[in-house]
Amino acid sequence: MKPTVVLVGRPNVGKSTLFNRLTKTRDALVADIPGLTRDRHYGHGRIGDRPFLVVDTGGFEPLAKDGIMHEMARQTEQAIAEADVVVFVVDGRAGLAALDKEIAVKLRRAGRPALVAVNKAEGLNPGVVGAEFHELGLGEPHPISATHGEGVRALVEAALDTL
Ligand code: GDP
Ligand code: MG
Repeated sequence: MKPTVVLVGRPNVGKSTLFNRLTKTRDALVADIPGLTRDRHYGHGRIGDRPFLVVDTGGFEPLAKDGIMHEMARQTEQAIAEADVVVFVVDGRAGLAALDKEIAVKLRRAGRPALVAVNKAEGLNPGVVGAEFHELGLGEPHPISATHGEGVRALVEAALDTL
């Protein structure tokens, strides 16, 4: 069984950009299973000789009665439950947000291996950009740039090494 790497994080941090980078392999099949989910995307990734499944979250089409925040929380919890390891994506340019702290609480409760990826870090000092995310309590933050590719391989290797 391939390990499942699940991407979570608040909207606009770059989860889908990272998903696209991770699944843009030679044989980039979209592994979505029709009827199973509307709000998570499944794809195949590979780093070296290590294949994995990657799950993107964030369709976030809210059921009108509950609202988008409730829907995001529900989807994030479901996705975490499917994960072998979670990559929690945060925005290094926007900085630490209240919603990041809420997601971190869910992750610590879930007890799954989890890493913090500090995205949009291109051109920023890696030590400085990660510093404020230590307080999420999920270990050493990993600066990455999903658009440029910097740090992505090291991030995934670290994620797979938790298993
Ligand atoms: P999602 O809502 O978490 O899936 O975020 P998206 O992948 O849709 O990206 C949100 C925005 O952030 C888009 O405009 C992306 O182009 C931008 N973005 C994503 N990754 C990076 C990055 O590494 N650096 C910068 N500067 N922008 C990024
Ligand atoms: Mg997205």
